[in-house]
Amino acid sequence: MFFKKKKIERQVMLQHDVLDSILSFCQMKHPNEGILILKGKSKQGTIQVTGLVIPPFSYTGPTFAGFPHSFLPFDMSYVGIVHSHPSGSANPSVTDLHNFFGLVSLIVKFPYHDDDVFAWDSNGNQVKLSIV
Ligand SMILES: [Zn+2]
Repeated sequence: MFFKKKKIERQVMLQHDVLDSILSFCQMKHPNEGILILKGKSKQGTIQVTGLVIPPFSYTGPTFAGFPHSFLPFDMSYVGIVHSHPSGSANPSVTDLHNFFGLVSLIVKFPYHDDDVFAWDSNGNQVKLSIV
């Protein structure tokens, strides 16, 4: 074999002001789950999150959060979603993986502090997350 497959390590860069908005949104929604769309760009495995969009017609409860994907306009700047887990678990549920949207899924667990945010890919593998 001549060509080695280059392993692209995925990582997420989250702007600090975006993180602050996510955390206050989750606190506001507690004890229900909150859900937001992540806006940004992706280049060579690095996903930069630079903004948030409140999804249309979102529905949330204590153990679920979602929105009908069919209502979303096609927008290349939507890189994923973030939602909260009031239960305090950082792991994506089976439902979360079935409803995966975009490139990355961020989960914020209770009590929604700076270090309660975790990034996952569509297979449920953890992705490196940096606050910038
Ligand atoms: Zn979830």
